[in-house]
Amino acid sequence: RAEARKFFVGGNWKCNGSVQQVNDLVSMLNQSTLSTDTEVVVCPSQVYIQGVAEKLRKDVGVGAQDVWTQGNGAFTGETSADMLSDMGVGWAVVGHSERRGKGEPDAEVAAKAKYALDKGLKVIACCGEPLESREAGTTNEFVFPQIKAYADAFTKEDWKNVVIAYEPIWAIGTGLTATPEQAQDTHADIRKYLGEIAGAEVAEETRILYGGSATAATAGGLSAKEDIDGFLVGGASLKPEFADIVNCNG
Ligand code: PGA
Repeated sequence: RAEARKFFVGGNWKCNGSVQQVNDLVSMLNQSTLSTDTEVVVCPSQVYIQGVAEKLRKDVGVGAQDVWTQGNGAFTGETSADMLSDMGVGWAVVGHSERRGKGEPDAEVAAKAKYALDKGLKVIACCGEPLESREAGTTNEFVFPQIKAYADAFTKEDWKNVVIAYEPIWAIGTGLTATPEQAQDTHADIRKYLGEIAGAEVAEETRILYGGSATAATAGGLSAKEDIDGFLVGGASLKPEFADIVNCNG
């Protein structure tokens, strides 16, 4: 793996937790041995984000699971990048399939990512194909427009603050992890395409994470692949094995 691409593991807690569970998760993370060779970011539900940011060890970053496309204003129910950055939250996930599925088009996902970057947040930019595309052999045709929308919105400088998360929809929450070969092939295709549309340096330096039923058992095989620079973990990020995924790269 290229020197510039520090291994990265994100925990996407999704709509899970209670005050008690979130405190327990934070304690677990605070007590775990986490490799300093891995950049770690956890993304709690928005309601818990401030508490987590206050109590969590400072070498683990905190991210929001989504962010609004614009600043503060009359946008009921939304959370702005302005607020997140004011609270010291460092990251935002955009374009998760569980949000795209509610009708967020590529251009809107890219616009919220760009707004967040402009406000000083770093971005976990998701992409990924449904089972029909995988089965029809049209994964790239589905994923590349998502990547293109990001590339159209980002400057070369912006890309320094972006990680891509490739999350095949059929693998999310299903227990059906992509094989290391399947994931590697798509990661390599994404990196090649990124080179064509954003330049060789961006392609070489941008981390591409795998997401979709990643576990401690599957992380080792996946992370051994050249173009897999880490994980975005859902279910397993709520369990002690998250630390093993963080440490799988040693
Ligand atoms: P999962 O979720 O690990 O539970 O499949 C991954 C994600 O949606 O980020």
